[in-house]
Amino acid sequence: MKLLNAWKRVSLTMTSEDLVPAYFCDKCSVARAAHLIKLLDGELAFCGHHYNQHKEALDKKAYEVIELNKIEEDIPQLEKAESNGR
Ligand SMILES: [Zn+2]
Repeated sequence: MKLLNAWKRVSLTMTSEDLVPAYFCDKCSVARAAHLIKLLDGELAFCGHHYNQHKEALDKKAYEVIELNKIEEDIPQLEKAESNGR
C-alpha cells in the first residue's frame, strides 16, 4: 500500500500545531495510526498496514472502529505536503 510511506513521513514531520491527538500504531509504533479500534476492555491503534493485517480479528472484537484519516481530512494542514523536501 503506497499510502503507508506517506503516513510515516507525516509522523516524522508532525508539528505542535497538530490539534488531533497523535495515535501511533501499536504494532510498529512508528507509523501514525490510521484506525482507532475501540474494544470493550480498551482501545488499540493501528496503521493502515497492520489494521488490514488484523482486520478480521479486530472486526469481531471491536465495537467501534474510528478512521483517523477522516478526522485528519477535516482539518486543512497543507504544510505537511510542503515539508517533504527537508
Ligand atoms: Zn503498524
